[in-house]
Amino acid sequence: MSKIMPPAHPFDASVLEDDDKLKEECGIFGVIGVGDASNFVALGLHALQHRGQEAGGIVSHDPEQGFQSARRFGYVRDNFTSQKVMETLPGPLAIGHVRYSTTGSKGQTAIRDVQPFFGEFAMGGAAIAHNGNITNANALRRELIERGSIFQSSSDSECIIHLMARSLQRTIPERMEDALRRVEGAFSVVAMTRTKLIGVRDPLGVRPLVLGKVGDGWALSSETCALDIIGAEFIREIEPGEMVVISQNGIDSQFPFRPQKPRFCIFEHVYFSRPDSILGGRSVYETRESIGRELAKESPVEADLVCPVPDSGTPAAIGYSLESGIPYAMGIIRNQYMGRTFIEPTEQIRNMGVRLKLNVNRALIQGKRVILVDDSVVRGTTSRKIKEMILDAGAKEVHFRIASPPTAWPCFYGVDTPQREKLLAATMSEEEMRDHLQVDSLKFISLDGLYRAVGEAKGRNAKQPQYCDACFSGEYPVEPADQIESGFEMKAAE
Ligand code: SF4
Repeated sequence: MSKIMPPAHPFDASVLEDDDKLKEECGIFGVIGVGDASNFVALGLHALQHRGQEAGGIVSHDPEQGFQSARRFGYVRDNFTSQKVMETLPGPLAIGHVRYSTTGSKGQTAIRDVQPFFGEFAMGGAAIAHNGNITNANALRRELIERGSIFQSSSDSECIIHLMARSLQRTIPERMEDALRRVEGAFSVVAMTRTKLIGVRDPLGVRPLVLGKVGDGWALSSETCALDIIGAEFIREIEPGEMVVISQNGIDSQFPFRPQKPRFCIFEHVYFSRPDSILGGRSVYETRESIGRELAKESPVEADLVCPVPDSGTPAAIGYSLESGIPYAMGIIRNQYMGRTFIEPTEQIRNMGVRLKLNVNRALIQGKRVILVDDSVVRGTTSRKIKEMILDAGAKEVHFRIASPPTAWPCFYGVDTPQREKLLAATMSEEEMRDHLQVDSLKFISLDGLYRAVGEAKGRNAKQPQYCDACFSGEYPVEPADQIESGFEMKAAE
């Protein structure tokens, strides 16, 4: 009698990880002036979970119990919903962080790498949570270690705490200003002292940070969607180069850095931010729909259906459909219930890869010419598998339309990107990529088209780009000093 093998189903988080997407590394959130601030922070971090799923942490301060902290691996919902944990984080002031590592020991993070980081100074303690990436962290770390600093983690963000410790300024906000003036790269920071909540954005404003009002208190958040979840009113964005210090006396705003033209990350509009957030006064959802419309104008094709690659391609696919008049349909269905608690991945399961997460709506696809709209192509591995699934389901033609220009350069400002040679667009032309993916056509939105879609009617200002678009253009607004030191070659001047 032949032995019936059980269906292979165990797989681990590595299989579920979407390794063919760029990944935002962090979300930050802080609240002051409400009872049990840490509960608000936990909710805020839950709404920011898309910005980092590896680990999270909360620091709170209570006048009687002082600073308390909890740092955990895994999702916010699995760690910061238990009463037992939340009771250890009392007080009217708290900050938190969710992380997907960009620097530090990636993939093998130690709990000491999980933020917020805490420092005890002569004038009291301070905790900080950082979103972004410090591009001169190696040089700073070397200098600080030579001068006696003892680092606890491998995270570049810890440099800020050590720089603060060495500052001769009198107050913690002043020390933070001092420290951040030495830091290059991208940073949005939420920090706290015993009585103050502090928010800072780097002079280019690469990563987002917004201010909200919650009851008699205030909140700072990476995105507005996290203000919504706690019932906070969105007040405004923290300006590039601005530092706000919030206490019971109100908000003090300063601009301590040398002013520069802002260069917000344009990819936040395309993919990183949640579609229900507001960025630069615009709904992210509407911007993505406009990207789809631009794409349809730039790269029309005759077809029967426009389908998104869920979930991030959805608004752009709707825009493409509205502009082109080609019906929109959910040709690919996402399994919403992917857990992360499986065991050993088998080879068979690894090969299933994308099929575990996405399935083709066969009845809809069969015999159709299908336009697939996705937000980006990074390595191209997922695009290729999706194409195979669509053809297996009987599609007549497959046309890819991509809501971002070709990603040909790595990001050094707080987004996890593969090395340059792993990026499909770094080594292939559009036609070579089409051939590699074996699709009937492949078109990316142009850089100018993307700028138009985010509200720049005249497109990109080549002399002074309005956004950071380095991963598309290779033009880095801040020289990535650490990377150059380790051999990264910048784009040659044209
Ligand atoms: S390089 Fe790309 S992902 Fe990184 S900040 Fe600039 S636009 Fe955003």
